[in-house]
Amino acid sequence: MPTHQFDVVIVGAGGAGLMAALYASQGAKTCVVSKLYPTRSHTGTAQGGIGAALANLEEDHWEWHAFDTVKGSDYLGDQDAIDFMCQEAVNVVYELEHMGLPFDRTADGRISQRPFGGHTNNTTKKPVRRACHAADRTGHMILQTLYQQCIKNNVTFFDEFHVIDLLVTDGKVNGIVALEIDTGEYHVFQAKAVCFATGGFGRVWQITSNAHALTGDGNAIALRRGIPQEDMEFFQFHPTGIWRMGILITEAVRGEGGVLINGKGERFMERYAPTVKDLASRDVVSRAIYLEIMQGRGVEGKDYVYLDVRPETINKYAELDGRKGLDGQPIRVTAEQIESKLPDIADFCRTYLDVDPVKQPMPIQPTAHYAMGGIPTNLGGEVVIDDKGTVLPGFYAAGECACVSVHGANRLGTNSLVDIVVFGKVAGVRMAAYANQVDFTPLPPNPEAEIKARLEGIRNAAGAAGKENVADIRRDMQLLMMANVGVFRTEQLCQEALDKLAELKRRYQNIAIMDKGKRYNTELLEAVELGNLLDLAQVTAAAALARTESRGGHARDDHPKRDDANWLKHSLALLKDDVEGTGVELTYKPVTVIKYQPKERVY
Ligand SMILES: Cc1cc2nc3c(=O)[nH]c(=O)nc-3n(C[C@H](O)[C@H](O)[C@H](O)COP(=O)(O)OP(=O)(O)OC[C@H]3O[C@@H](n4cnc5c(N)ncnc54)[C@H](O)[C@@H]3O)c2cc1C
Repeated sequence: MPTHQFDVVIVGAGGAGLMAALYASQGAKTCVVSKLYPTRSHTGTAQGGIGAALANLEEDHWEWHAFDTVKGSDYLGDQDAIDFMCQEAVNVVYELEHMGLPFDRTADGRISQRPFGGHTNNTTKKPVRRACHAADRTGHMILQTLYQQCIKNNVTFFDEFHVIDLLVTDGKVNGIVALEIDTGEYHVFQAKAVCFATGGFGRVWQITSNAHALTGDGNAIALRRGIPQEDMEFFQFHPTGIWRMGILITEAVRGEGGVLINGKGERFMERYAPTVKDLASRDVVSRAIYLEIMQGRGVEGKDYVYLDVRPETINKYAELDGRKGLDGQPIRVTAEQIESKLPDIADFCRTYLDVDPVKQPMPIQPTAHYAMGGIPTNLGGEVVIDDKGTVLPGFYAAGECACVSVHGANRLGTNSLVDIVVFGKVAGVRMAAYANQVDFTPLPPNPEAEIKARLEGIRNAAGAAGKENVADIRRDMQLLMMANVGVFRTEQLCQEALDKLAELKRRYQNIAIMDKGKRYNTELLEAVELGNLLDLAQVTAAAALARTESRGGHARDDHPKRDDANWLKHSLALLKDDVEGTGVELTYKPVTVIKYQPKERVY
């Protein structure tokens, strides 16, 4: 059994993991363990931008960014964490610039910024240019820049190692178990501090913008180790996924002036968000699209609407809205300008839809996009396991798998890239300091035994008649979650989801796989990932069933109003077989409210 020893072990090589590694490696012996080759992490697909109040093009303040984030979160975000993030955003963007990140520039050489949903000038309430971007490849640039910095700083990488367990001894986290994908060998990593930066779990749903690898492994491993998951009922549906495929069309398309049009040719967002219209927060826009479709105003009566970014459309609505360019002149965009600002989007549309977006509108529908909830942490990236903020020593989390909580019930666009670099950095600094204060905790004998028995059980199950197939169960789960725990929920839909998930979990106990080999056994790993997704679907549905209000990304048709008196609180979910009806134990903890008392949201 290969055993490795590092002061700090980081699981995940997306933006959060790499930023944590960069900082941890400055004070401690650090490695990154990743199931994907680092530059294939989902951060690399982030398109639109990273938000920071640089005020390069117009007046802006970090306090405005913080208020927009609180409002966007439907007042469920913790305001101390949000203040910290929005102040630090400015520093980390300059830090990334100094590392060499090739941001787009203004004419006078400063970092260019574009408008994005929910980001406003707090005085005029109009959209503000706050998203820093490198064309529509911002995440790709962040990932490449950070990876190069990690290489330069001699961070050790274990690429294509699939982490399957977290080791906890005497109340301290002291390592992980991973499977080397190439050889099928189990590896044990002993550590003083472990950080999970494993990304999201959009693969719970059928229509998703998330890559195949986003199966919430870190969240599910933590759950199985008795660490609660926070705010799991809040999962964001992004308004503009390519119809039937879910592939994301960035909000930057609307930031650049694109508009949403229903089957009757109406710009329907005028009715739902009279001030910012197409640039309202994502929860508001996704619900509006759903309502249009449900009321028969989808295009040709189907389940999609149009996103229109043709120059003539942009210019028409800019004139109607009275929007002016920075020079004070009416906006006049050309097809060439759109191509240069959104090259990848234009390419996706031509490739996947055979639609040329400068000549035709794009068919879109809401797509499962982002986990607001996750492993609860404090402002230092330390994992906290109860409503009192008790820290689990040695365990850290950052990025989409974590919940600080800066996004509350709904995340604003551009705020995940901020979150991953700001809190990745904090976690890295804190882990190095912690590792220098403590000794290694000895590992138990055969730390891999338990998880190995489970995986070998799956590998060796005889493939006889009556056995279940992983792909079938995954499809059934994804369809169920899309229909029952999607943009709109009700008590009945959530309860039905839980009953059917229990049945899917019974079927999962009876799976068999064809590939019995060791090397690159992706079938085995997909089976493991499905087990993770089923657990996360269950806690999501249970938390959604319990929350009898509508807030941010959680819309209950049977409880359409936000209910601050009873529900201004974070949920903490644990898997407990003996909880009747759901198998999930829910407790709650207060939201940190400092400056902004909850108000009704108007966009
Ligand atoms: C298409 C798309 C566009 C987006 N655009 C934007 C945007 O413009 N602005 C914005 O702010 N946000 C955007 N987001 C959201 C944002 O990109 C993500 O939330 C963020 O990049 C997540 O970063 P991360 O470091 O937490 O995780 P990821 O980048 O997803 O990385 C996860 C890492 O964990 C590793 N991992 C997972 N499981 C295991 C395991 N079992 N063992 C070992 N390693 C494991 C993976 O190998 C990977 O390296 C977008 C998201 C998508 C899907």
